[in-house]
Amino acid sequence: MFEALGDCFSARALSAIIKANRRQDNPSGQFGHDEYHVDNNSFDQSNAYIEEQRAVTIAALNSNDAKSAWSAFGRLTHTAQDFYAHSNYVTLWLSHFNGNANPAPNEIDPIDPTLLDSPDLHSGKVYYPLELFYFIKPLRRFVLSRIPRDSHAWMNLDSPEQGFKFDYAVQAAIKRTKIEFDKTTLGFSDEMLRLFLDR
Ligand SMILES: [Zn+2]
Repeated sequence: MFEALGDCFSARALSAIIKANRRQDNPSGQFGHDEYHVDNNSFDQSNAYIEEQRAVTIAALNSNDAKSAWSAFGRLTHTAQDFYAHSNYVTLWLSHFNGNANPAPNEIDPIDPTLLDSPDLHSGKVYYPLELFYFIKPLRRFVLSRIPRDSHAWMNLDSPEQGFKFDYAVQAAIKRTKIEFDKTTLGFSDEMLRLFLDR
């Protein structure tokens, strides 16, 4: 969020957006909300959720309610960013280069239409209850030895420990966040933009 939009919003607005973004990973947002995190191949539901939160953002600004707009935009960006951490998008993009001379992470195209529509695109399945124990680090190896390869546990790019693809997921998420910002603010009046950016 800082790298993508740190220069656009006021510190107060950015902090509210980030708070709402992070809140999606609270336990209440983890169960029964695949669409927040693009888990279990919920691509259609996640795209619909992004559009729903974009509409909430715009409606809130039309009602002069910047705080609600920041919260909705925070929720929207969480899903847009999790797409790269929880799907095999990065792997599919890198497969274009056959493993030799991969481009730098910041060269990744985050919205390659051939990949977004690819039948090979999938995201990690969440196998409860085993998946829960993945988050307890000393049990991680045990879980990985027993959980299928198409699980969130095996597929996620949530941290640098997941290897070199993590940097690609981060760069894709930064670019996508800017794209979502541009898409959301397209056609805003000066007054709406001022209210949203809090500038
Ligand atoms: Zn998430």
